[in-house]
Amino acid sequence: MKKGFTTRSLHVRFPKDDPHRALDMPVYESVAFEFDSAEDIAANFRGELPAHVYSRASNPTVEFFELKMKNLTEAHGALAVASGMSAISNTILALCKTGDNIISGHHLFAHSYSLMDQSLRNYGLETRFVDTTDAAAVETLVDENTRAIYFETVTNPQLEIANIKKLAGIAQKYNLILIADSTLTPPVVFNSKAFGVNIEVMSTTKFISGGATSFGGVILDNGNFDWSLNPNLIEVSEKFGRDAFIARLRKNYYRNTGGAMTAHTAHYQIMGLDMLELRLERAYENCMQLGAYLSNHSKVKKVCYPGLKDSENYLLAAQQFEGKPGSIMTFDLESEEACFAFMNKLEIIRRATNLNDNKTLIIHPWSTIYVEFSEEQRREMKINPTSMRLSVGIEAASDLIEDIEKALA
Ligand SMILES: *Cc1c(COP(=O)(O)O)cnc(C)c1O
Repeated sequence: MKKGFTTRSLHVRFPKDDPHRALDMPVYESVAFEFDSAEDIAANFRGELPAHVYSRASNPTVEFFELKMKNLTEAHGALAVASGMSAISNTILALCKTGDNIISGHHLFAHSYSLMDQSLRNYGLETRFVDTTDAAAVETLVDENTRAIYFETVTNPQLEIANIKKLAGIAQKYNLILIADSTLTPPVVFNSKAFGVNIEVMSTTKFISGGATSFGGVILDNGNFDWSLNPNLIEVSEKFGRDAFIARLRKNYYRNTGGAMTAHTAHYQIMGLDMLELRLERAYENCMQLGAYLSNHSKVKKVCYPGLKDSENYLLAAQQFEGKPGSIMTFDLESEEACFAFMNKLEIIRRATNLNDNKTLIIHPWSTIYVEFSEEQRREMKINPTSMRLSVGIEAASDLIEDIEKALA
């Protein structure tokens, strides 16, 4: 029988024996690594003697984090990077060139949207934004220059969920790469390969880091795409076969753009993975309890969490994320003023913008994250002035409810 997530995380073996038989992976905070002979270093540079050389390209502690991610997800390849944005930008750069396009969900993490709409467009790489919950609309945008379909497993703060198998069907039909940003639904509850995702990108800054300990990102290759079908990877796939995508990153974009994860960060991320299942379970239980409490409160107009039975996306959350679609929820009061007054009275829940911290955080997206957009644009993005976003942490549910009860009084 397949072992539990935490068991598997705790017992991944080191790729090399530690000279001191350390039980936890040491933090190899060294820039460079030496070789016994001139012949050895020459053999390494010819690709015949694998070893760490320079930590911007690879590092033993970071490699162990990658190995854990691979073992836990059963991905074919993994590459850890400095941040979620580094994972996303490197992935798109490695798959596309000027003149190509990708199709992406229109409700994206703000900087992912800005990366595609501004940074990449400057280099002639077009993004076609669409509602990815509407598979037919996605398909109409495909042309001969389309390379990938990109979506977020749960959008934030709208909490929309696309039918991933439908997107995978379109991707397969046109030989496109299906890329999922699964930051909100970590591998404890989501097996991207089972739904036909080819590449998974994550901001490990959020859930995986252990609750906002450090910045990180990871790129996973599920090993289910024939890389010779992407015109930009034909050459590298002749040499590296199934490893073509990660090889193109390691030997080109990742190495050359300098977005490496540090050994200290990898250490935090490794510890974060070991406790991920426990933290996620607790945060999910808290979401369910807060959901029930808020739904019954006379001053609360609306509650949204796709783990709740009466939620619009409950079924997709159940099918795709074991019914535990992360720990972000939203709820509405009667007015923007009521939201501000409520937020100012909170004592345990903190006013801050991160996701999946161990602490519960609250923000009013309309007046903060989306304030640069016009009112009309915000309404199109389904951002409402009466709505607040909670990133539910791992405190005792009763303490969170008490805090909310006092602030609503
Ligand atoms: C935070 C986040 C990112 C960006 O990650 P960083 O680690 O902050 O660079 C990308 N996608 C989603 C869904 C996120 O929540």
